[in-house]
Amino acid sequence: MEPEEFRRLGHAMIDWLADYRARIDTLPVMAQTTPGAIRASFPAAPPQDGASLDTIFPLIDERIVPGLSLWQSPRFFGYFPANAPLESVLGDFLSTGLGVLGLSWQSSPALTEVEEVMTDWLRQMVGLSQAWSGVIQDTASTSTLVALICARERATNEVFARGGLQSVERPLVIYASSQSHSSVEKAAILAGFGHEHLRYIAIDERYAMRPEALAAAIAEDLAQGRQPCAIVATVGTTTTTALDPIAAIGEIAHQYGLWFHVDCAMAGAAMILPECRWMWEGIESADSLVINAHKWLGAAFDCSLYYVRDPDQLVRVMSTNPSYLRTAVDEQVKNLRDWGIPLGRRFRALKLWFLLHANGVKGLQARLRRDMANASWLEEQVRQTPEWQVLAPVTLQTLCIRHEPPGLSREELDAHTLAWCDQVNRSGVAYLGPATLDGQWMVRVSIGAIATERTHVAELWAAIQAAADAAS
Ligand SMILES: *Cc1c(COP(=O)(O)O)cnc(C)c1O
Repeated sequence: MEPEEFRRLGHAMIDWLADYRARIDTLPVMAQTTPGAIRASFPAAPPQDGASLDTIFPLIDERIVPGLSLWQSPRFFGYFPANAPLESVLGDFLSTGLGVLGLSWQSSPALTEVEEVMTDWLRQMVGLSQAWSGVIQDTASTSTLVALICARERATNEVFARGGLQSVERPLVIYASSQSHSSVEKAAILAGFGHEHLRYIAIDERYAMRPEALAAAIAEDLAQGRQPCAIVATVGTTTTTALDPIAAIGEIAHQYGLWFHVDCAMAGAAMILPECRWMWEGIESADSLVINAHKWLGAAFDCSLYYVRDPDQLVRVMSTNPSYLRTAVDEQVKNLRDWGIPLGRRFRALKLWFLLHANGVKGLQARLRRDMANASWLEEQVRQTPEWQVLAPVTLQTLCIRHEPPGLSREELDAHTLAWCDQVNRSGVAYLGPATLDGQWMVRVSIGAIATERTHVAELWAAIQAAADAAS
């Protein structure tokens, strides 16, 4: 494609996207499709001859749009906000259009240096001290895997890097709460600890890790001849946005010399609000932490910020230095390939820059405060309504709710909950996610899409009540 053709089609693509975003509120939020239908709309074999991209636009409407669940809809209340505001989309678009790769500083100096600036800006925004150095990873899953690999190496004097699994004498153990994200389990498996050496620590009535249960589990492992290695705490758990007590857990980590990783994938964004920073009090005692800028904050997916206090250790664990990647300036620069797993790196910092440039810290703070106020408003409505329950503290923007008509058995209540949630989702007016809490189904309402205003939340509440009444 020649640049002039790109100009014409690129304008058409932007027009298409702008129209789509403008009408997104008129589309059903949950994809109204059946398994296999989208696949079946494509020819079984690839085209032999190329065609003008003009002919692809009608196919996007025909084949793609019906198969989308609309994370950017103002009526999206599922999972978590994965905001892709259009300013951030343009930054991502620029990154792809520039088509540069960061293999070393020299392979695209701006890529590395803008990433350094952006991770430092975000560090300042969330109130972390200058002791932290950041790098952008694809996801929190990768960040937590990197953390556990670094923990493993520190605990074994880097014996893994030499003799590998064969040379450890005592099994290494990881600790996380029973509410930790599945990525912690995955990282523990991939980093070689094994299911048997991942301890799920008991939680309190607010779904937060109990420090005394953690200390007891560590003591028990030591008594049994195992080697405690790392603790993963969560600020903002997936189901309820619970807050593990970071200061108390950090003290235990220090007492036993364990790596302390904090998963702030969701709630990290809220730390741009000074009034929320009590939620991670003690964070300076951690060794590593992860904040997903691609969730509530609004850097288009994927953009996960991983911070460490000892970058030299990270680089020691992650670096390889083949001759074809060495450059004369290596002593003066960061080579971000040594800060994570992949060699190649996209210019992800651009979308963060566009986001911050367009909104400023104040703009982002105002949006997050709006969402938290909407969550409080909905919490109040639910609490005031007979037969409705709010099941966990509403710390940020997520509510866990249930409609409990009298006289239902546990099984009947579960069926009722799933029925009204499904009814809302299939109606297309909103998207909600059911989940289990204490072994019983409930419904999560995650507020915080960019376009979600109070009116959308009020309409959601009306739709929820109507669906629950109809299902009763
Ligand atoms: C979303 C989330 C994750 C996983 O994030 P990915 O970036 O998709 O890997 C992990 N932990 C918590 C607490 C999360 O909210």
